[in-house]
Amino acid sequence: MRIVMIGSGYVGLVSGACFADFGHDVVCVDSDDAKIAKLKAGGIPIYEPGLDRLVAKNVAAGRLSFTTELAAPVAAADVVFIGVGTPTRRGDGHADLSYVYAAAHEIALALDGFTVIVTKSTVPVGTGDEVERIIREANPGADFAVASNPEFLREGAAIEDFKRPDRIVVGIEDERARAPMEAVYRPLYLNKSPLLFTRRRTSELIKYAANAFLAMKITFINEIADLCEKVEADVQDVARGIGLDNRIGGKFLHAGPGYGGSCFPKDTLALVKTAQDHDSPLRLIETTVAVNDVRKRAMARKVIAAAGGDVRGKTIGVLGLTFKPNTDDMRDAPAIAIVQALRDAGATVRAYDPEGMAAAAPLLGEVAYTDSAYAVAEGASAIVIVTEWDAFRALDFARLKAVMATPVLVDLRNIYRADDLTAAGFIYRSVGRPGDGEPVIHPETVKIPELQ
Ligand code: NAD
Repeated sequence: MRIVMIGSGYVGLVSGACFADFGHDVVCVDSDDAKIAKLKAGGIPIYEPGLDRLVAKNVAAGRLSFTTELAAPVAAADVVFIGVGTPTRRGDGHADLSYVYAAAHEIALALDGFTVIVTKSTVPVGTGDEVERIIREANPGADFAVASNPEFLREGAAIEDFKRPDRIVVGIEDERARAPMEAVYRPLYLNKSPLLFTRRRTSELIKYAANAFLAMKITFINEIADLCEKVEADVQDVARGIGLDNRIGGKFLHAGPGYGGSCFPKDTLALVKTAQDHDSPLRLIETTVAVNDVRKRAMARKVIAAAGGDVRGKTIGVLGLTFKPNTDDMRDAPAIAIVQALRDAGATVRAYDPEGMAAAAPLLGEVAYTDSAYAVAEGASAIVIVTEWDAFRALDFARLKAVMATPVLVDLRNIYRADDLTAAGFIYRSVGRPGDGEPVIHPETVKIPELQ
């Protein structure tokens, strides 16, 4: 199949490279000159494990190329995917569809022969109808069908997710789109990945319903974690105890600083807005959004309490900035709100992230960036693990303690055991585990009684 991918970001580049790896001829298009120049020069504009090798292999095989000019590849294509961004629209929380509609208009003018146009971007229900209308209006003679094919990959494990998906969802209104979409995904279908065909609007809604459910599951366990702190229960045992029930399942039950990233925050908000517009409010998701919003600053208060209750003039070290490990994506990362709240409280912030510091710098204001966890700890009154990169899973506590002003570790991802940190002489706080709700008796506030 001849495939064009419009938008070569986290989704477009991974999908394009994987389709090429299946044996299809793929052209990835992007309107960002710098991104395409970098790809043409053999570079990768994002950090995603394994993507450099996959792209290089398929470029060398002549199946994958990059351009800013969509006209010629679209004219020659069997299937054109739209994988551009759909961020939150400024001011009202709806999805901003301007990139999708601009791409649809450009595609319309280049069509030649029957072509399937597929929205892979996450788009509100009914967007396919509008894409179809735009194309028909711009090019009344065009022969085309518009399908929906939402993407479920996770950054950090994107290639594996794309090549071994739990399911592939395709929404069509025109039966002529079915065979080309089956051909595109045949290698996965042969591998027994379920290929679910639905109507187009249903497919669009499946993506939002999936993300909203997962966001709600995370938020549920976060609230249970808060209760655990009040009643001396352990949220990890609660999560295991409920997750072993097949009806619930153990995934997305890790208590932490609240969900963030390029999808859940904007998609939950957009779904809430769509539902309100249709006079069918989704109260559970509205509450999920609200609970998650306030959680990030609450995490900063946890750090401040652990550091003795007042961080003015103190240094706080932040380990991990990206919204999850193995990506450089900083969009809506909890670290943004946490760092801001720490700075609001008067702290000086030092930070280290293995891949995210370049993307973080324009978002975080005044932060001193370092090159290791140990450099972050220098002079710090507390360090806080915000993102569970592997590099933070086996820290040398003695080395950290030696350089810190006070040995305080706040672990927002529950990667350590309280006993180990206490034995190493640390004040340790995590999320939803016994002791986490207890007031901190800080070394600075403990007065040694004077000898009579
Ligand atoms: P991104 O910002 O990384 O990439 C979008 C790309 O589209 C950018 O490089 C931009 O320059 C390009 N672009 C915009 N308008 C264009 C146009 N008219 N022509 C050509 N290129 C254009 O975004 P992303 O993270 O890849 O997300 C894309 C879509 O996929 C979104 O709707 C998102 O919700 C969805 N999605 C993302 C993920 C994820 O993990 N990132 C997962 C599933 C679904």
